[in-house]
Formats: sequence, C-alpha cells, structure tokens
Amino acid sequence: MQPIRTFNVSPSLPSRLEPLRKLAYNLHWDWNVEAKDLFRRLDPNLWESSRHNPVLMLGTISQARLTEVVEDEGFLAQMGRAAQQLEDYLKERTWYQKQRAGKPKECYAYFSAEFGLADCLPVYSGGLGVLAGDHLKSASDLGLPLVGVGLLYQQGYFAQYLNADGWQQERYPINDFYNMPLHLERSEDGSELIIEVEYPGRKVYARVWRVQVGSVPLYMLDTNIEPNNPYDHNITDQLYGGDIDMRIHQEIMLGIGGVRMLKALGYDVTSYHMNEGHAAFSALERIRIYIQEKGLNYSTARQVVISSNIFTTHTPVPAGIDLFSPDKMLHYLGYYADIFGMNKEQFLGLGRENTGDLSAPFSMAVLALKMATFSNGVAQLHGVVSRQMFKGLWQGVPVDEVPIGAITNGVHARSCVAKSTQELYDRYLGPNWSSAAVDSPLWERMDAIPDEELWRNHERCRLDMVLYVRDRLVKHLRDRGASPSEIAQAQEVLDPKVFTIGFARRFATYKRATLWMSDIERIRKIILANKDRKVQFVISGKAHPKDIPGKELIRDINHFIEEEGLQKQIVFVPNYDIYIARLMVSGCDIWLNTPRRPREASGTSGMKAAMNGLPNLSVLDGWWDEADYVSTGWAIGHGEMYDDPNYQDEIEANALYDLLEKEVVPLFYDRDADALPRHWVAKMKDAIRLNCPFFNTARMVGEYAQRAYFPASDRYHNLIANNYAPAKELADWKDKLRTSWFNIKIKDINVSSGTDILVNQTVSVTAKVDLASLKKDDVQVELYQGAIDANGEIVNGEPVVMEYKGTDENDLSTYTAEIVYNTSGLQGLSLRVLPKHEYLSSAYEPRLIVWAE
Ligand SMILES: *Cc1c(COP(=O)(O)O)cnc(C)c1O
Repeated sequence: MQPIRTFNVSPSLPSRLEPLRKLAYNLHWDWNVEAKDLFRRLDPNLWESSRHNPVLMLGTISQARLTEVVEDEGFLAQMGRAAQQLEDYLKERTWYQKQRAGKPKECYAYFSAEFGLADCLPVYSGGLGVLAGDHLKSASDLGLPLVGVGLLYQQGYFAQYLNADGWQQERYPINDFYNMPLHLERSEDGSELIIEVEYPGRKVYARVWRVQVGSVPLYMLDTNIEPNNPYDHNITDQLYGGDIDMRIHQEIMLGIGGVRMLKALGYDVTSYHMNEGHAAFSALERIRIYIQEKGLNYSTARQVVISSNIFTTHTPVPAGIDLFSPDKMLHYLGYYADIFGMNKEQFLGLGRENTGDLSAPFSMAVLALKMATFSNGVAQLHGVVSRQMFKGLWQGVPVDEVPIGAITNGVHARSCVAKSTQELYDRYLGPNWSSAAVDSPLWERMDAIPDEELWRNHERCRLDMVLYVRDRLVKHLRDRGASPSEIAQAQEVLDPKVFTIGFARRFATYKRATLWMSDIERIRKIILANKDRKVQFVISGKAHPKDIPGKELIRDINHFIEEEGLQKQIVFVPNYDIYIARLMVSGCDIWLNTPRRPREASGTSGMKAAMNGLPNLSVLDGWWDEADYVSTGWAIGHGEMYDDPNYQDEIEANALYDLLEKEVVPLFYDRDADALPRHWVAKMKDAIRLNCPFFNTARMVGEYAQRAYFPASDRYHNLIANNYAPAKELADWKDKLRTSWFNIKIKDINVSSGTDILVNQTVSVTAKVDLASLKKDDVQVELYQGAIDANGEIVNGEPVVMEYKGTDENDLSTYTAEIVYNTSGLQGLSLRVLPKHEYLSSAYEPRLIVWAE
C-alpha cells in the first residue's frame, strides 16, 4: 500500500528533557563518556536493542520512563553536565585558529565512499571507513573547517551470520534514516534540498542528509527518492554492492554529485581531499565548473583543481584499484571530453599511466594522482610501496623522489579506549592525554598509574568482553534456531581469567586469518597443555560477499573449532562491527596480526589495542613496521618478503608459535606475590605511552592540515586572485614548458678531478645547458650524486642545486656546483633539469625532467 501522505514524526520530550535531543543528534556523544553514560542510564535495555542509537531510543522510549526521569535529580544533573560539555566543546575548538589566524576563510572537503562513526550508522565496511570517521572526529577536536562528503546507503554494508556449517550468510537490514542521528537538508523554502547529476540518457536526483560530528558536518547523498527510476534508487543502496556498472554509478554520484552538493549547500571549498580513488571524478566536475561557469580554458581550470586537490591512497597492490574499461568511461563520462575540448584518447589518458597505451583501462588512482598536488600513502612502508607502484607516472624521477609521501594513519583515542580506561588516564595523566603529542611531559606520568590499578581495570575489561561475547553468541544461535544444548554451551565459552588472543578484521585472504592454526598439534598444546597457562582466542570479521576464499577462511576456523572440540577456547564472534571491535581491543590481552607483508597498507585495529594497553603481536607490516615493536609487543619475523607464499606461511607460523611458547605466554603468567604480572604490565604501559600519542588521528589530522590542507588552501587563494590571473599564468607557462622541454640539452660537463678522489675532497662541476627557448628562471639545474649499486645505478642520490653563471652567445647557459663525497666507495654523479615556477606546488608537479646523457 502506497501512502497518500507521509509525516516525519519527531520524539516528543517533556520540555525539561529537551537537551537530550541536542545531545542525541550530535555524534559527539560517541566520544563523550558522560553523554554515552546518560543514554545508557536512560534505558539500558533500549540502549542495547537500539544498537546504541539515541535517536531511535528517544523515539521509542516509554512515556512512563520519561516521566520518571523528569523527577530524577541525579539524571537531570548528569544531563546538565553532558549538555554543558557539548556546548563547551563546540566553543573551544582553538588549535586551528592558532595555526591560521588572519588567513582568509577556508573549507576542506573530505570525500570518502564510507564512514565508520558509530555502530548505529552502519555505512562502513572496515578500516577505510573507520579511519574516515576518526578523521572527522579529530578534525572536529582540532576545530578544522572541514566537511565530510559521502553516500548514505539504504542498506549499508551487510550484517553477517553463520549457518550451521560455519559459512557466512549476509543479511541487508534497511537503515531507517528518520530514526538515526541524521538531519535532512532543506532549501530556504523548506523543501528537501535536491541535487541532480547527468547519467546516460537521464538525470539522477539525490537529497542530502547531514550527520553532525562535533563541529564537523558530514553530508551524505541519498538517491532513493522520486522521480528516480528503480535502478537509480539503488545507487545508494549498498556499500561496495552490485557490479562494475553500479560501481561507476556510485562513484559518479560521490565525486560529481558531491561537488554539486557542496555548491548547493553554499560552501566555498579551498581544498579537496580524496580519501582513496573512489571520489576522483570530483576533479572532472570541478574542471567543468571552471570552464563552463567561470569561463576558464581547460589548462587553467585543471591548474586550479590540481593545486587544491589532495589524494590519499590506501591500496598497496594494483588489484585493489578501481579500473573502468574505456568503453564504460566513454559511455558514462564521455561528455566531459567534449567540454574539455579533448578527443577520446586524450580524455582516457587522464586515467592511464601510459597515455599511449590505448587498450589500458581507466584507473581511478591514476586520475587522482594526476589531479592532485599532494598525494600520500598511509604508513611509511606504504609510502615506499606506493612510490614503487606509481613511479611510471613520473618517468625519469628516481623512485625515492616520486612525490607520494606518507602520513601514517591513526585512530581516535576517545572513540576506541574503554570508558573505565579513559577515566583512569584522565585521573593520572590529565584530560589532555587523548591528543597529547609524543614529546609531552604528560606521558612521564604513566609511571604514576599503580600497576595494580591498571591491571584490575584491564581484567575488568576482559570480563566485560567475555560476557558480551557470550551474549552475542547466544543471541546468534537463537536466531539460527540452534539446539538448547548448543545455546547452553555458548553461555560458557571463554574463561575471564585466561590469556586471550584477539584477532579481528576484514577476512581478506592476505590477512591470513588462519595462519595461527597451521600446525594443529602445536596450537593445541599452546592452548591446552599447560593447566596454569591456558590460552584462548576471540576472532571476528566479515568477508566481502563475493570473496569466496575469504568466506572459506571463516568456515575453516569454525570447522577447526568443531573438529578439535575447542568451543570453549576459541570463539568466532559473528557480525564484526565498531562496537565489538571496541570491546575486543580493550578486553583481549594481546592483538594478533599476520598479514602478508607488504599487503597491509597500515592497519589500525592494532593501534586501538595499543591505546588500551594491549601489546601487539604482528608481522612487520603497515604501522607496526614503524612502531617500537620491541618495547610495545613482539614482531613475527624480521620484515622479510618471500617469493613462495607457502614457505612464508610456514616460516611465519613457526615464528608465531615460538614467540607464544617461549616469550608471550610465559611473560603473561609470570606473577609476583600479589598475583600481578609486573613485567607484562610494564609492557602495557609502554604500549600506551609510546603508541597513543603517535598512532592517533589527533597527530594524523594535524599533519594533513599542516602538510596538505593549509598549503593547498593558500595555493588556491593565490591562484584564483585577480580573476584567476596567476592560474592562467601558471597554466600558460606549463604549456610553453611542454613544447620546449624535450629540446633541453645538457652539454659539456666538466669535472675538476679524475676518477680517483678522496673523502672530503672538493670536486667542482661545470656544465653548459641548452635551455631551448626557456629562460633561466624557468628551470632548476641540479647535480645528482650518490653511491652506485650493483646494477650501476645511483641509489638514494642527493640533489644539489647548481648555480647559474650566465648565458653565452650560442645560447648555452653555464651552471656550476661544488661537492664533496663524505663516504668512500664507488660513487657517481649525474645532472638533471627540473621545472621551476613560484606558483608550482613542487618541481615534480609538471612531471617533466631531463637527465644528462
Ligand atoms: C578498526 C576497525 C577495522 C580495521 O582493522 P584493521 O586491523 O586495520 O584491518 C575494521 N573494522 C572495524 C569495525 C574496526 O573498528
């Protein structure tokens, strides 16, 4: 039955309880202990059954309970405190103001296909989404003028349950937006704000929902509206659902729709951040707007866009990148080629590493890299991998100079540290621990926390987790219609006193979720053999619905548990989400991670665990490779890479068993007269003190601000001044550069010494360079020196800028430099020319370089 009219019915609250509404609609409650406690206190059962959704709670709570709390002075006082804290929080955002005092107005738009903010907003699949959510929370904490842009999925990502054979099944619960902490954006006349995007043969309409994340708004597009056709209703139906056509539909909506949405909302964005390649079409749309609405030519429009764009890659393997066939690109987006004045191949070249390869697919990562002024990977090692992976885009640039940097990921401390642990840190370290820098004296106070208190608190967290896991398991089995004996058994899984290994993440095969069970006898012994040193596992995670090998891993674990009769000692917790993640990273004793290096770009769950005081036990990959893995945990292996995956599995499984048998388990059970594991607690304290300040989105977002958002916004303001005059100048200069560049010749290189020189001996180099029709100020001539490797190549070379000495009658310019070698051995030098212009973000931006031959 179709309704003839619809109403949006809001909860009706007694006026004294009105502050609850404001608290419920700002996700700040998710990282404010007081507010969260308040909602739990309001109705503990409803809090659980609503999936910790305060808006749904307020909509469904009984009038009787509301009448009760209106009379409850304790409740009202707590509500007052929570409301005051939110108000103070929104007023106090000062870090940004200190950094950017006196600057023109800025706005940073952060685009992501998924956002993981709270478990009542299930529009994320895993680490990428949680990272995006944490990015917004820390941007709010720092007071950045940032807005999030995403899609609001009607069904989100799937909910997982297992059949009796341990095989993953998927359910797609419908998200009821009207009962979530979402605001529908409206136009001035009160009607829904609608944006439209062209698709082949039709327009698609979307409305806009906002989630308020502290002071940061996150806007999400929703196409499930009239008059869209049924297919288009589903563009925002499922995260990473559907086929390749659906994927391109979604990415068009995210990138192009996202830019239109920001415009419709009245934002003047100074810096665009593409979190992964999904949103790279935003660059095309921005160029179109400058051409069609500001009258710029393509080169100038593109220059403005590049100068203000930022791209973060999260993918360490080519297989992880979104690729679209040339046909599809032209079918869906070919009209942009006409607007840009390009032919088809030129247009497709925007997404090709080698523009001459006419059969190559269109890569979203390549488009994003070509359209960004600042690009980065998400850990130092991932930076190295990304430079290697994309070096083809910067022909002739040594791989270590490929301009893809690294900003190591972090996590939002107040979102992932258990409540009681936060209170403990607040008490001993002071309330600023959650964003204090690495060198803050606050961390010295770690020693002031009594071992006993830290340990008792941790044991309490373990108990909370065990009880919750039992509950969730029982509920899952009931839903599945399991037998009473199975349900009874689930009520007794795990032992709240036993050493607990946590493993939870997406079940992508490279994460090797079953490595720990490679040798059945050995792991059985570790778990059971020693009565006083028992070991148990809590495991959780979802496989993508189409990832059959990933699902097989889940089934293998469940079969293993069954066949070995280890139901009490090993538990697979169904339907991994943010809520279970938080319980596990605080309630387990150690956090296990066994990815196949270097496939884990960063990994973040281990950071959450470390902040809660858990040592990590992990392969040296992603963030762990750059952490203090001796003081704060254990390294499995030494960061080797193997050609034979089976051999690698065998070596690393053995290394894992050795560590568990000889070091980890003995240390955990090494107790003093007070039954305290003093040495273990010392490691816990190190894990907190050394990891919490760094692997933290407070540090990470600060770094994005200083290295990317601030410079990009400055460049944007500079380039658009005087009706885009500087942008035009830079674009024209680049065009000129391209026509002359390949005529540049480095000639007559003169070196003052022969082939045998001494350490610290000065060598002077003179060269004559034919700059073709370019001027001396258009280029930088550099000497490039360094050690020679076995292949006869200069490795890790150092550039030295050469000094211009004049131009002779034959139009040859002379450059000189003096160098010294401060290490012995076979060393070499070369010369190169790079472009130079004051408006350029870096010498690599035009992707032109000439080397001496
Ligand atoms: C933190 C988190 C992740 C990411 O875990 P990794 O170890 O980085 O793979 C995935 N899912 C949820 C729910 C998380 O909270």
